[in-house]
Amino acid sequence: MSDSLPLPALSLTRLRDTGSVLALAKVEPQPVHKGNDLWYWPNPPDTYNSAEHLRRGLMLSCPHAPGDRVWIPEVWRPTRQGCGAYNYGILFRDLEFVNHGAGHDEWPDMRERGWRPAATMPEWAARTFATVTEVLRPVRVGAWCYASCCGTWVPWEEPGVNEDWCPRCGARSCLSEIMTSEAQARAVGRPWPPTTWLWRLKLEAAEAAEREEGP
Ligand SMILES: [Zn+2]
Repeated sequence: MSDSLPLPALSLTRLRDTGSVLALAKVEPQPVHKGNDLWYWPNPPDTYNSAEHLRRGLMLSCPHAPGDRVWIPEVWRPTRQGCGAYNYGILFRDLEFVNHGAGHDEWPDMRERGWRPAATMPEWAARTFATVTEVLRPVRVGAWCYASCCGTWVPWEEPGVNEDWCPRCGARSCLSEIMTSEAQARAVGRPWPPTTWLWRLKLEAAEAAEREEGP
């Protein structure tokens, strides 16, 4: 078992196409600003740090370290082909079908139709794996884009934001509102997203571990 690392749609495509990508992961727990560039980090309690100390201190608590292997959950659809002797497999959004032969005990209920969210994918169904090659200092999101296609805020630092596609859902030209302050957001009637610190991780594509063969 390895950890999963969800990626926005565009980053997933880039990882699969080019073999590497910069990923973002939320710092947990999120530090709280106390003014004058001092941040309160609730774990361990009562710890105050300058932004620089925070970066160094939090380095130790990043859930991913260089060398770690991660698997990437994707939108998926368990399916089967043929009649009589069925061939079970997983269908992905780019319509790649990964054959699982006769299936196995954990095979999901097939009566549920349609695409399933990435968050529901089990590790055995994954086809995309990566190795963390570098953990960069966390960044505090200073600018946000509002993605009207999926109704979410996307950090300006997120890979793919300055392109024509929404990095979250892949819709075209939806990131029209770029905001750097709460006043800007309020002026167009949107709530300003909370301050967010993000890890930046360099990922390199990795081969799937060999699947255990059934008897
Ligand atoms: Zn979107």
